[in-house]
Amino acid sequence: MKKHNFSAGPCILPQEVIQKAAEAVIDFNGLGLSLIEISHRSKDFVDVMENARSLALELLDLEGKGYQVLFLQGGASTEFLRIAYNLLENKAGYLNTGTWSSKAIKEAKLFGDVVEVGSSKDENFNYIPKGYGIPENLDFLHLTSNNTIFGTQIKKFPEVNFPLVCDMSSDIFSRQLDFSKFDLIYAGAQKNMGPAGTTLVVIKEDVLGKVSRQIPSMMDYAVQLGKDSMFNTPSVFAVYTSMLTMEWLKNLGGVPAIEEINDKKAQLLYSEIDLNPLFNGYASKEDRSTMNATFNLSEETLKETFDTMCKEAGINGLNGHRSVGGYRASMYNALSLESVGTLVDIMSELERKA
Ligand SMILES: *Cc1c(COP(=O)(O)O)cnc(C)c1O
Repeated sequence: MKKHNFSAGPCILPQEVIQKAAEAVIDFNGLGLSLIEISHRSKDFVDVMENARSLALELLDLEGKGYQVLFLQGGASTEFLRIAYNLLENKAGYLNTGTWSSKAIKEAKLFGDVVEVGSSKDENFNYIPKGYGIPENLDFLHLTSNNTIFGTQIKKFPEVNFPLVCDMSSDIFSRQLDFSKFDLIYAGAQKNMGPAGTTLVVIKEDVLGKVSRQIPSMMDYAVQLGKDSMFNTPSVFAVYTSMLTMEWLKNLGGVPAIEEINDKKAQLLYSEIDLNPLFNGYASKEDRSTMNATFNLSEETLKETFDTMCKEAGINGLNGHRSVGGYRASMYNALSLESVGTLVDIMSELERKA
């Protein structure tokens, strides 16, 4: 039976990407060797790394604009501290929009002063704060573009005259933005780009070199850039598979093309949530994420029936995060409109049955 994978992460990847990745594990580039047993310094793998880096810049429309790309390890969670290590000298601003922002704030506090410029904690993060004041002279402002757990997404980004840093783990390559407004973008691969094991970091070079502290080599973006993401052995499988996903996206028409599909999927699901009296959306309407839709049943007694119907239809990964409860449908790039249609059909069938 066809599975419809709504998992929040690790997430669905295009079937052709998984097929190609599997082939490369058996025999990479016809070498008679596996991708995961050759030297990361061999030409075959160095080409993969270079291709992955240039695809990332191309998809974000950042070519020739002073940006560099890294593929690092330790997940987005390690970037929480790497960013502070490399950029936080005195004071940084953080917008607290959920679990991941809170974790980033906790790490940054080890390195300097942190101002929470705004927070939606008062409503268990079901909205994006707006109209907040931003102090002058911050070392940087940190935002989380999409809140994977609560299902909110920043639609309008603040204008600032200091570096803008953004955790785009769960909506990278999903929508068009002027990415040149950001000075550092990072994303753990396993939400919308590849398997777990690598983190994309896109840095505008001129933000580095401004802190006075000593930075350990593995934590130092300048060191990592000097070694082209190969200061130590990179996560070869995760980088290769991410490269395949980026190629898949490029062939599809890039970010503008996928944005159109992502908007259709989100519209389809949210209109069902709004029309069907058995379901309530969690996130405030204007801040709803196109990637992660959070919703609850209005009558808990229907849970068993709904869960069984989902299971029988091959729907996977719909459980909400423990901090929100209810359901979360993650509609990352590789999830088809048809899969969302299947979920919506079940939701309306539940309404007819109930
Ligand atoms: C999942 C997630 C993270 C944490 O990623 P890891 O790679 O597991 O460290 C950070 N930020 C956001 C927005 C996420 O969705």
